[in-house]
Amino acid sequence: MENIQPLAIDGVELSKPIIISGPCSAETEEQVLETATQLARKGVKIYRAGIWKPRTKPGGFEGVGVPGLAWLNKVRKETGMKISTEVANRSHVEAALEYDLDLLWIGARTSANPFAMQEIADVLRESGRDIPVLVKNPVNPDLELWIGALERLYNAGITRLGVIHRGFSTYGEHIYRNHPQWRIPLELRIRYPQIPIICDPSHIGGKRELIASLSQQALDMGFDGLIIESHCNPDCAWSDKNQQITPEVLSVILDNLVYRDAPAPAESLVQLRRQIDQLDNELLEVLAKRMNISREIGTYKRDHNMPVVQPNRYGDVMSTRILAAKSMGIGEEFMRSILSAIHEESVRLQVEINK
Ligand code: PEP
Ligand code: MN
Repeated sequence: MENIQPLAIDGVELSKPIIISGPCSAETEEQVLETATQLARKGVKIYRAGIWKPRTKPGGFEGVGVPGLAWLNKVRKETGMKISTEVANRSHVEAALEYDLDLLWIGARTSANPFAMQEIADVLRESGRDIPVLVKNPVNPDLELWIGALERLYNAGITRLGVIHRGFSTYGEHIYRNHPQWRIPLELRIRYPQIPIICDPSHIGGKRELIASLSQQALDMGFDGLIIESHCNPDCAWSDKNQQITPEVLSVILDNLVYRDAPAPAESLVQLRRQIDQLDNELLEVLAKRMNISREIGTYKRDHNMPVVQPNRYGDVMSTRILAAKSMGIGEEFMRSILSAIHEESVRLQVEINK
C-alpha cells in the first residue's frame, strides 16, 4: 500500500485533527438538519450519519435507508459540510455514490467479513471512483484482518484510505463498551505510517462521560482525528443514545483538548525513557528465565504423563499475583491479561515438548 494518498475531499487535504461528527443514525429529516446546523455553527466540517444500521438483534431501528441520503445532500447544500455514511454491501455503495457522498466508512462488523469487503471493493472498482474510505477496526482484535480489508480497497484503486479505531468486542460488562487495546492501532501506525488514524471514542466508551478522556488519550498517542457521535436531542436518539452528545457539549470537549506537537524531547524525558529501556530489558530477562523453567516443568509433566494444563494451579497463580499486583497499584484487568498471555505461551512451549 505504498501509494496511499493523504485524505482529501474535492482535492483539498483534510486538515488535522480531522473532526467528524453527527448522529449515530439519521432518524428524521428535521433531526439530521438540526444536528447539522448546530454542528456547522460550532465549526465542524465533516458530517456523519448512519443510514443503514447493523443491529445486534432484529426488531430494532435498522436505519432509514435511501431517503436519508437526500437529507445528507440537503445538509451539504445548506451548511457546506462534507457528508459521510457507513456502507456494508453493494447496494449501499451504489446508493452512496449515486447521491455523491464525500466520504464512506466501513463498520466494524463489515471489516471483519472478507466477503463483504471484497464485494465493496469490487463495486468501487467498477465505479472507477476513488472516493475516500475510512475502515473501522474489525470487531475482533485481529490486525491482519483490518489490514486485509484495507488491502482489498487499495487493490480496487482506492488510494485515499484512513482507519477508525473503535475498540474491540469482549464478553461481559466492562468499563468500555469496546476495549481500546491501543497497541493494535499503534502497531498499524508503525507498519503503515502513511495511513491516518481516527479515534471513535463514542463506540469505544459507550458512555458520554468517557468521550473527553478517550479523545485526549488518542491525541496524545498521535492519532490524526476523532469521529464523535452527536445528536440535537441525545436522550431521545433511536440508537446509541448513551454515547451521543449535543453539538454544544462536543464543542466544549473539542475546545478543552490539548493538541500537542511533537517537539524534541526534553532532557528529563530522555532520562525517563532510558529508565524504561532498562526496565524493559530486565522484564525480558525475567520472562526468558520464567519460560526456561516452564520448559523444564513441561519435560517433567511429559515424563510423568501429566496434562499440560493444571486448572487449579493456574487459578492459584492468577489469584495470588492479582492480589499482589493490586497492593502495588497495578490494575486487575491489566494484570489478568499479562498473566493469561504468559500462561498461554507457557502452555504452547509445554505442548511443543510433548510433540
Ligand atoms: C457507527 O458508527 O454508528 C457504528 C455502527 O459503528 P461500529 O461499526 O463501530 O459499531
Ligand atoms: Mn453508533
